[in-house]
Amino acid sequence: MKSKRNRFWSHDNRFRLMLTLGLAVLLPAAALIYVNFQHVESIKRNKRVEALIHRDFDYVLAVSEKKLNQKAYTLTEEIRDLFPSPDNDSEADKTKKLDLILAKKPWLAHVFLYDRDKGIMLRSQPQQLNDTYCREEHDMMEKGYSAWFGMEGKMLVEELHKRSKPISWYASPAKRADGNAFMTTAFFALPHTSADRVVMGGASFDPNYLKQTFFPEMLDELITQKLTEDKGERLAMMVYPMESEGGHEEKPLATSAGWSKGKPEITRKLDDVFRGLALGIKFQGTTVDAIGHRWVMQSFLILGALSVLMIGGLVLTYRSVSKEMALAHLKADFVSNVSHELRTPLALIRLYAETLELGRITTEEKKDEYYCIIRKESERLTALINNILDFSRIEAGRKEYDFRDTDIAELVRNTLDAYRYQIEQQGFAFEQSIDSSLPRVRVDREAIARALVNLVNNALKYSANEKFLGVKLYRANDFLKLEVVDRGVGITRREQSKIFEKFYRTCDPLVHDTKGSGLGLSLVRHITQAHGGEVQVESTPGKGSKFTLSLPLAAATQ
Ligand code: ADP
Repeated sequence: MKSKRNRFWSHDNRFRLMLTLGLAVLLPAAALIYVNFQHVESIKRNKRVEALIHRDFDYVLAVSEKKLNQKAYTLTEEIRDLFPSPDNDSEADKTKKLDLILAKKPWLAHVFLYDRDKGIMLRSQPQQLNDTYCREEHDMMEKGYSAWFGMEGKMLVEELHKRSKPISWYASPAKRADGNAFMTTAFFALPHTSADRVVMGGASFDPNYLKQTFFPEMLDELITQKLTEDKGERLAMMVYPMESEGGHEEKPLATSAGWSKGKPEITRKLDDVFRGLALGIKFQGTTVDAIGHRWVMQSFLILGALSVLMIGGLVLTYRSVSKEMALAHLKADFVSNVSHELRTPLALIRLYAETLELGRITTEEKKDEYYCIIRKESERLTALINNILDFSRIEAGRKEYDFRDTDIAELVRNTLDAYRYQIEQQGFAFEQSIDSSLPRVRVDREAIARALVNLVNNALKYSANEKFLGVKLYRANDFLKLEVVDRGVGITRREQSKIFEKFYRTCDPLVHDTKGSGLGLSLVRHITQAHGGEVQVESTPGKGSKFTLSLPLAAATQ
C-alpha cells in the first residue's frame, strides 16, 4: 500500500514536472525558434539588406557624378580665364595665346576660338598632331564645328549666356592608338563679351588624360572619401562607355583600385559633362548577394547554436530535477525506515525491562538473557544513531577525523570480538583471518571500527540461506586490505554502483523486509576516502558479496 502511494506520488510529480517544463521552457523556446526562423526567412525573401545597400550605392554614385562634373567645371573655368579677347587681340596674338594654353595645360587635346565674323581658330597639342587619329580628329572638328556654329552659333551663345555657369558640353567617343577612348569638349562664353556677339571659346579634354589620369584618380579619391565615412566593406568603382552596355564589364574605360573583374552592382548614366558614359559600383572581392547570403548563414548558425544551448539547458534541468525527485523519494523512504528501526529496539527494551521490573523472572539465567537482550538492543540503537549523526556531520561538511597511530590488527580483532557472540548466535559460520605482522598505521579508530561494523552488519542482514561471514585483514603491496565476505543475497551489477549513494537500498525483496537506513555504505565510502583509500564490491546475486576496503599504507602512516 505504502509503495503504491509512493508510486502515485512519483507519477503525479513527474507529470507536473513535465507540464512545467513544457509550459515554462519548451513552449517559449519553440516559439522563439519559430519566430526567429520566420524572421530570417522573411529577410531572405524581401532582400531588405540588399535594398539598403543599393540605396547607399545609388547615393554614392550620385555624389560621385556631381564631384566629377565639378572638377571638370573648375578645370574649364581656369582655361576660360586664359582665353584671348576676340576684339582686343590680333590674330597672331590669339594663336599665340591659344598655343600657350595648350602648353600650360597638357591635359587638353584641342582649344578653339569661334567668331562668326572670323570663323573658327582651332589649335591642337603640337606633339599629338603626329598621331593620325589626332590629326583626323583635328580636321573633323575644324570642319564640323564651323558648319555647326555657322548654323546654330547664335542660339548656342544665347543659351550659354543664360546659364549660371556659361559652359556647355559635347561628349563623343574618340579613337587613339591604344584603342577606343572618350573625349568631352567644353563650350563657353568668353568673359567680358556680350550675348549679342556670336563668339565662344572651347577646349577638349585629352582622351588619354581622361582615361589614364582623370578618371582613375577621381574614382580612387571618391572611394577613399566614402571609406573614411563608414568602415564597411571596401568599394570599387568604374566608368564605362554606354554604347557597350551589356558587355560593359569587359570594357571599362577606367577603374578605381581593387575593381579586378565582375559586374557592377549598381550603375548610373552620366549626364552633362560626361554624357555617353556610365558609372558602376560594387564591393571589392564580394557581391551584395554574397554578403546577404553570409548574413543569413550567420543568423542561422547563431540560431542553431542558441537552440542547441536551449536544448542542452532543458536536458540538464530535466536531469537535475529528476535527480532531486529521486532523492526526495529516497529521503521519504529513509524517514519511514529509520523510525521503524528506532521503534523496534525501543519496544524490545521496554518489554524486557518491564518484565524484569515485575519480578516475574525467577531464574538467574533468564535474567541474564534479558539483560543481554536489553544491552544488545541499546547497542543497535547507538550504532544507528551514530550512523545518523555521522551522516549529518558529513552532509554539513563538519565531519572531522582523529588520526592516531594504531595497531590495526588489534582494532579489527577487538571490534569483531564485540560482535562474535551475536554472529554466532544468529547461526553464522565465522571465519577470521588477521595478519598480525602488519605495520602500525595512522587511522581514526572509531571511524574504521564503524566502517567494519557496518559491513559486518550488512553481511548478517543480507544473508538468507547460507549463513557465512568471513573477515580478512592483510597487506597487498602498499595497501592494507580489509575484506568482509558473505554468501548472502548478493547485489546485481547495475546496483553495485549505486549502493554507496546515500539513502540507496536495492530492490531485492529481502532487503525490503530487512530494516535499514541506506546510510551505512555511504558512510563506509566516506570514511575510506578520508583515509586516502577506496572501497570495492564484488558480488553475484544469490551467491554472496565481498566488500574490500583498501587503505594506502603510505598515506595512512603519515
Ligand atoms: P542499509 O543496509 O541500511 O539499507 P547500506 O548503505 O548499508 O544501507 O546498504 C545499502 C544497500 O546495499 C542495502 O540496502 C542493500 O540493498 C545493499 N547491500 C549492502 N550490503 C549488502 C550485502 N552484504 N549483501 C547484499 N546487499 C547488500
